[in-house]
Amino acid sequence: MEIKTLTSELVKDKIVLVRTDLNVPLSDGKVAENTRIIESLPTLQFLIDNGAKQIHILTHLGRPKGKIVPELSAQFLIPELEKHLGQSIEFRPEYTASEAFIQLHENTRFRPEEKTNDPAFPAEIIEGIKPDIFVLDGFAVAHRPQASVIGFAGHIPCVAGKLVEKEIENLSPFLSKEKIEGLTVVVGGAKMETKVAVLEHFSEISDNIIVGGALSNTFLKAQGYDVGKSMCEDAEMETAKEVLEIAETNNTSFHNPVDVVCADDIDAPEAIAVPIEDVSGDMKILDIGPHAINSFEKIIDHSKVIIWNGPVGVFEKEPFSKGTESIARAIAKNKHAKTILGGGDTLGALKKFDISKDEFTHVSTGGGAMLEFLEGNELPGIEILKG
Ligand code: ADP
Ligand code: MG
Repeated sequence: MEIKTLTSELVKDKIVLVRTDLNVPLSDGKVAENTRIIESLPTLQFLIDNGAKQIHILTHLGRPKGKIVPELSAQFLIPELEKHLGQSIEFRPEYTASEAFIQLHENTRFRPEEKTNDPAFPAEIIEGIKPDIFVLDGFAVAHRPQASVIGFAGHIPCVAGKLVEKEIENLSPFLSKEKIEGLTVVVGGAKMETKVAVLEHFSEISDNIIVGGALSNTFLKAQGYDVGKSMCEDAEMETAKEVLEIAETNNTSFHNPVDVVCADDIDAPEAIAVPIEDVSGDMKILDIGPHAINSFEKIIDHSKVIIWNGPVGVFEKEPFSKGTESIARAIAKNKHAKTILGGGDTLGALKKFDISKDEFTHVSTGGGAMLEFLEGNELPGIEILKG
């Protein structure tokens, strides 16, 4: 995929406007978790090292819904950003420029025009800052047709930042329509709706599809199993059958868990592992069982490329975390394979199990954006970087 990327010539002596994703969790006005700040450093450092005249940073933070919510002010990001960049940064409540070298502007989502993609908002920013070039570095917002993401296109040159470049480089190979030899795709999580297009795509080009989580309950039911009181989407039953057919037509092995961990409730102290045939009545499937773990580990061990999105159980609760932890460790352990993962809760699981991102080839910063990209959708934020 051809996109325009950062070069030294493009930024030297230029006023650079960067749309990052610094949407970190805050607690008491402090950054509680800094992954997204760390991920944005390579681009900012590149701009500093390559002689940008001025750097203006835009980000959203939380969900203020088009209103000023003082607790979600971008100014709370300044200390953490300054610490990691080793530069002083001026906070600008308005979208206007001062003399400072690096300026961070207020939360773009304080403005209702952000979500509605009202061209007046980017026009105001261009007027106030007079940028020479726009850098999109927030991959996690690239699927959103919002003012600060796509609104500068057609006015100033738009290029990908280092993070977006890295994401595209790692994810593009999977847009293939041809089979990718040794590819195993593990999909879990709660909602079919957000994953079904990805499942359809990979049912054509993978060797193995492994499903877990609430998602697999829908597939199990589609295959005629009783899933008791498990979370399950009856409305998606036909789609599940279609995915199974696509897999079969394309010689892709589709793996549902052969056994599962059940309880009557996610807070129940007692959980039991049973073969899938034994689920009935009030039972709720909350994790994959030991035999499933075993067989999934073997498939992962023998794979050459592995993509993982979505926990395979309610990993937040101890009795149901083993499946997700085992999958994460098995993927991390396979050092012969190219390993790619993404998803908000998938990354949350890594954190919980204290597994470093360095164990994998690529950990995507996009949850929804990664899924939409892998579906083959055109992401509005990426489209403006082409040609
Ligand atoms: P990601 O953010 O990584 O894409 P999702 O948001 O799709 O993942 O799904 C994560 C959620 O799915 C977690 O909160 C987890 O508790 C839930 N989940 C996983 N397995 C089950 C299950 N069997 N029943 C109910 N919820 C589940
Ligand atoms: Mg999620």
